[in-house]
Amino acid sequence: MIPLSVPHIAGNELRYVKECLETGWVSSVGSFVDRFEKAVAALSGRKYAVACVNGTSALHLALLSLKLEPGDEVIVPALTFAAPANAIRYAGCYPVFIDVDKEYWQIDPQKLSDFLYQGCVMTDGQLINRATNRKVKALMPVHLLGHSADMDALLRLAREFKLKVIEDAAESIGSLYKGRPVGHEGDIACYSFNGNKIITCGGGGMLVTDDESAAARAKYLSTQAKDDGVEYIHHEIGYNYRLTNLQAAVGLAQLEMLPAFVQKKQAIARRYSAAFASLEGLTLPGQASWSTSTFWLYTVLVDESRGKNSRELMKVLADQGIQTRPLWHPLHTLKPFKDAYAFKITITDQLYRQALSLPSSVALSEADQDKVIAAVTDYIKGVKR
Ligand SMILES: *Cc1c(COP(=O)(O)O)cnc(C)c1O
Repeated sequence: MIPLSVPHIAGNELRYVKECLETGWVSSVGSFVDRFEKAVAALSGRKYAVACVNGTSALHLALLSLKLEPGDEVIVPALTFAAPANAIRYAGCYPVFIDVDKEYWQIDPQKLSDFLYQGCVMTDGQLINRATNRKVKALMPVHLLGHSADMDALLRLAREFKLKVIEDAAESIGSLYKGRPVGHEGDIACYSFNGNKIITCGGGGMLVTDDESAAARAKYLSTQAKDDGVEYIHHEIGYNYRLTNLQAAVGLAQLEMLPAFVQKKQAIARRYSAAFASLEGLTLPGQASWSTSTFWLYTVLVDESRGKNSRELMKVLADQGIQTRPLWHPLHTLKPFKDAYAFKITITDQLYRQALSLPSSVALSEADQDKVIAAVTDYIKGVKR
């Protein structure tokens, strides 16, 4: 069995966890939480980092920290995991779904611009979605699959229309945007350390920002909004979103290996791309000039006009013990988001049908890569096994 993407425990994880156990610092305070926060802040070039129980809670706190209010709208790509849209709903806000571009599969600045200019109106300095009459307050680009979104184009629009920017960098820690770490551009950025991500805490997340008051507010809300730790006085509803020292110990050990993990993922991608380059009927992941991708999940498109399709390829590979996965069901078509507005979405639906992510674990051996390559090549060429 060749899995899609599994953790690689190969450094100081055991040593650090043992230190937690031996000293008794296992819970939500401890030196590893502080060290992990400092290290992620440094890696992303940000002043502040707040560790969270997972990436979804980091996104939720980001929205609350930037003072979004129930009923406000937040723009997200239609092609992504549901977590960012769920976080938007936790905050009582509504997602607005924008299409992704055909080449890089990231939120499309041109379509965003069309929505902002044609679909919205500025009234008393406040942007209003004409279709829903709701206030459009923020943009949440997702850096999909380890490739960064087109941030300069997005930030230009965000500035013009006074939108806050929260980067969902859950899939893309270690990637670069124009040579800078992904997560460096928006008001806040969020990472995930879930088990299938490039590095993991088991489960975990982190919010990073240069905004001191947003960071303080995120920390406050993540610790039950406690205003007096002796008398237990709270002035608002808080959350228990803290990361434990045990998880941070694993996360810090993993973070130490991130550069090596990124190189491994990039090497796997180069190998796949070289093998598939001349294969007609398969489209390789496009790489924008601004992006240095980690190839978190190496994903291809199967050309449907040749009588092949991604779901059949998924079954053929599964029969050979190779685990793959389509991209996420377009969010704007799902029941939990039926009250959300979707603007002229076409590419997302095509990519959803055509895309398949191939095994991309950091420790994937060359022999296993060769098995994947041979199995994909045979299917696309119509060779029966
Ligand atoms: C994984 C993921 C998240 C959520 O992270 P968790 O740590 O699993 O909560 C958010 N957004 C995207 C795009 C993701 O892939």
